[in-house]
This record gives sequence, structure tokens and C-alpha cells, in this order.
Amino acid sequence: MDSAPQREEAPQGRASGSRAVRPPASEAGRRRLFPEATDAEWNDWRWQQRHAVRSLAQLERYVPLTPQERAGVQETAALFRVGISPYYLSLIDPEHPFCPVRMQSIPVQEEARIRPGELADPLGEDKTRPEEAIVHKYPDRVLFLALDTCSVYCRHCTRRRITKGGEAELSKDQMRRGIAYIRNHPEVRDVLISGGDPFILSDGRLEELLSALHDIPHVEMIRIGTRVPVCLPMRVTDALALTLRRYAPVYVVTHFNHPKEVTPEASEACQRLVDHGVPVENQAVLMRRLNSDARIIQELSHVLLRIRVRPYYLHQMDVAQGCEHLRTPISKGLEILQQMRGHTTGLAVPHLAVDLPGGGGKVTLQPDYVVERGEHETVFRNYKGERYVYPEPEETDCSCPYDEVWRARPR
Ligand SMILES: *Cc1c(COP(=O)(O)O)cnc(C)c1O
Ligand code: SF4
Repeated sequence: MDSAPQREEAPQGRASGSRAVRPPASEAGRRRLFPEATDAEWNDWRWQQRHAVRSLAQLERYVPLTPQERAGVQETAALFRVGISPYYLSLIDPEHPFCPVRMQSIPVQEEARIRPGELADPLGEDKTRPEEAIVHKYPDRVLFLALDTCSVYCRHCTRRRITKGGEAELSKDQMRRGIAYIRNHPEVRDVLISGGDPFILSDGRLEELLSALHDIPHVEMIRIGTRVPVCLPMRVTDALALTLRRYAPVYVVTHFNHPKEVTPEASEACQRLVDHGVPVENQAVLMRRLNSDARIIQELSHVLLRIRVRPYYLHQMDVAQGCEHLRTPISKGLEILQQMRGHTTGLAVPHLAVDLPGGGGKVTLQPDYVVERGEHETVFRNYKGERYVYPEPEETDCSCPYDEVWRARPR
């Protein structure tokens, strides 16, 4: 397709390198945009929710919009809501339309363009949705859709058919039916709570859900997918962390896409979880001209590992309505992995996942290091491109005789 940028080009003479040293903007942005907010208000997530920016008129008060963005807000109005917490808004670079925080929260005109082949339900979830709250696509795990609300509405959200609203917060009855479904399906050992953003639930409602799931004997682990540590870090209170810890093992899976989002506040939120015994993993989405560069993904991984958050998936952008302008070629993700594997800490290299359009589920990709596969040896190239030979063993029987004993042990 055309390579014309959908955002205005950066003003001339503003080489990206010259600004790279600027510290995270949360403090400066807050003073500039919300000078009247007291510390108590700013640090109160309910205040943040009440003061989220939701309309063009409000947005124009805080950010000088480009014509593309102004048109974007107007033309996407009927398609997907705008909502930006004051905290996340304070991170926006008012002078640069390619600011990653800005690109993730303010729509551009391109987003109003739905292209042939783009899907409202790109992952085919609705056909494996036996209950309003449940997506059951894989054999041993389910997605539990707890609500349709978020702290920020991401412009790349592929579940926008839900988060655009209208599918109101789950009723008590739907919540009960979701839990009953899991109770009646003993093969489900892993429940991933998502939505919407589960951390927008009150501590009380979240605890109700966690305790109901925890009471099901075959549920071995719970994961919570959330952008709150990124977009509303003040929500991560000691009380929340303590609640999660009570229902261990609970893994928090968060969603940082750019190192700019890893502010002191976000770091504190993640570390508070980890300090309370709640492991935190990150799923990033690869987005064109936002983070589609090995240097950026590597820096993101490094800053995450420093705050004890493990990179998990790097997602290829789904074929969702209005998201074409953010999609990268498959080859870009592979190139990024190739530039990381071997060159940096293995823990820093995420799995590159493609969630197949139409409901095929996730598959992962990695650069091909096998040069030749023979009966007696396999020839590889390493991360530097050098050739190495791995000799195959003579014996090939891989059955494990002790397993019969192990599986028959009394339990
Ligand atoms: C991604 C996903 C999961 C979890 O997949 P993992 O690979 O185990 O992280 C579960 N259910 C659905 C529907 C998903 O999209
Ligand atoms: S937080 Fe997640 S569910 Fe909510 S808008 Fe962003 S991507 Fe979508």
C-alpha cells in the first residue's frame, strides 16, 4: 500500500536522537495539564476515572491536535470510544504526532477506514463463546470477559466490539453463569480474566470473582490481563496486591508497548505486585511506526526486566477493523527477534505470536536457524550467521519408562 504517513511528519530539524534523553513526562505533564489536582486526587484512581478525557472538546483543551487527529476523533466517534486517563494523557508529547502514548490513545483518520478483510471479531471469539463471559478456544484454558470498561481505550484494541460499550458490565447472573461453566468443565485448569480491564472492577467485585474461581478445585491458576499498570498505575494499591496474593497463583499480564510508558509510577505499580508475590508478565503489540524497531523492543524488554516484569508475547497486530495503518509485515517481527536472540538476555526475547484471523488461535514464529536437516546431523546457523553442526544420537527411542510409576503414585 502507499507509504504516506497517516500522521503529519515530525517538524524538520527535530532528530529523534536529540530528545531521547528527556525524562518521563508524567510529572511535567501533570503540572502543565492538571495544575489544580491535589496529590490526593491525582493518586486516587477513581478521580482519574472521573476526569478521563472523553470528547473532542476536552481533548483540544489539553493537546494541540493535528488535522488528522481532529478528523480521527470526529470520524471514529460512532465506531469506538475515546477515553484517556489524566495520568496517561500527561505522558503525551504535545509537539510530536508520533509520540507512542499519543498514537495509542488519540485516533487518526485512518482508523475510521474499514478495509475489506478486516473483521469486527478478528479472533473468531464469538463462535467459541458458550457464555457471555466465556471464550473457550483452547482445550485447557478459557478467557473470562469480566467487563467492557478500560482506563484508556487503546486505538489498537482488537476487542473493541466489546470495549466500545453497549455490552454492558457483566450482570451478576452472567458472572454466575461464567463461573458455573468453568465449574462444569473439569478440563479447564487456567482462567485468563480479561475484558475490558478487570482492574477497573472494585476490590470487592474482583475478590468475589477470584474467590469463586479459586474455590473450583480443577482451576490451577488464574491470569489477569490488564493495562492498568500502564495507564492507571495508582489503581495498583497495597490492598489490591494483597487481594491478588490471597488467591495465588495469580499472574498479572500487563501490556506495555513502548519504554516511554515505563514511568516511575508504572514501575512502582509493577514492583508492588511483584513484592506482594504476584508475578507480572508483559504482552506487547507490534505497531507500525510506534514500536516496530528492534532497538525499541529491546529497550522495552530491558526496562521491563529491571522492574521484574517478564516479556511474554510480542503480538502481531490482529486484522481488526480500522487497524490496518498499525499493522507491520510479518517479516518485521521476525527481523526484530533475529536482532535480539543471542544478542541479549534470553529472558528479554518475547515469543512472536500471530493470533490467526477467524479463530485459529495463536501460533508463534521464530527466525529459522536450521540450515539443513539430515538423518545424522542437523546444520544450524547461529545468531552471528556462523555454521554449526549438531550430530544426531544413534538411539531414538524417547519413551520414559518411569512415567508409569509416577502417574500411578497415590495422590
Ligand atoms: C491468548 C488466549 C489465551 C491464552 O493463551 P496462552 O498462549 O496460554 O497465553 C486463552 N484463550 C484465548 C481465547 C486467547 O486468545
Ligand atoms: S486496555 Fe485492552 S481491552 Fe481495553 S482498550 Fe486497551 S487493548 Fe482494548
